[in-house]
Amino acid sequence: MQATKYIWFNGKLVPWASAKIHVLSHSLHYGTGAFEGIRMYETEKGSSTDADHQPVGPAIFHLKRHMERLIFSAKSLGMKLPYTLDELMQAVVETVRKNKLKSCYIRPIAFFGFGEVRVLPTNCPVEVVIAAWPWGAYLGDEPARITVVKTLRIHPQTLRVNAKVSGHYVNSMLAGREATDRGFTEALQLDYEGNIAEGPGENFFIVKGKTISTPKLGSILPGITRESVMTLARDLGYKVVERTLTIKDALSADECFFTGTAAEVTAIASIDNKKMKKANGSSTDADAYSIGPVTKQIREEFLKITRGENPRYKKWLTFVNGY
Ligand SMILES: *Cc1c(COP(=O)(O)O)cnc(C)c1O
Repeated sequence: MQATKYIWFNGKLVPWASAKIHVLSHSLHYGTGAFEGIRMYETEKGSSTDADHQPVGPAIFHLKRHMERLIFSAKSLGMKLPYTLDELMQAVVETVRKNKLKSCYIRPIAFFGFGEVRVLPTNCPVEVVIAAWPWGAYLGDEPARITVVKTLRIHPQTLRVNAKVSGHYVNSMLAGREATDRGFTEALQLDYEGNIAEGPGENFFIVKGKTISTPKLGSILPGITRESVMTLARDLGYKVVERTLTIKDALSADECFFTGTAAEVTAIASIDNKKMKKANGSSTDADAYSIGPVTKQIREEFLKITRGENPRYKKWLTFVNGY
């Protein structure tokens, strides 16, 4: 991981190495942080104007939606952020600008700091940090070989599954480790009813003909990439449905893919070594990495949008100028 110069820490930019917290911080002990993962992309070669005279430069993808979700996730923990939505969005822009970043991953986190050690964080201050650093593809550029893991996704009556909370990632970490320990790229998790939920940090889609399906909300994190890909797929003429999906549905699909800020749109080559029908390799070998035509189209269109190359979706971007 490549360090940058500054981290935004409770309202001030401080040197990367000085952004430290107390070891008795509540969220370290109890997992009570709310966080986000956001990406900023370089657009149109960094020139100052494009053909239709829109300002270009690096652009943050869905900044507002991410910071709204940060506030929502914090609220689910009874945490009130000491900053407004606008202030938080400004803080992200300031962080990437001061670090002169061109493309990067952005990690805002709000957590309970040190006040006293007890379960209810009544006397713990709310702290907010925003860090950003250059970062490439999360699951690699190759289609993923995934496995259905034993670790079920969190039950919605156990934790607030629709919030992005640090403690929930114990479940993600265990699922991810189960997959990589067995030599797979990533895990696919089932919900408490045995239906497909999602990956440890990615939403899941299947493609069958002109229909694209994804698990309905309830046991999953409502991803901003998921929502964007659903809109994009509809605009491209696909039928998009949110429904209950079983392993059988996935195995009989033409293609499957993951979405997420980190994973972007990642093709899935195989599930438990059973190759997807239209993961068009020259070989029938489950290990042959390949990407199906619909996934390929969606992935390419999605990446174009993030790079500011599709005017229709420029409203999803926050351009950062001034460096
Ligand atoms: C963050 C996350 C996702 C992806 O959400 P995006 O908003 O698309 O980044 C999916 N699943 C889980 C469990 C997550 O934490």
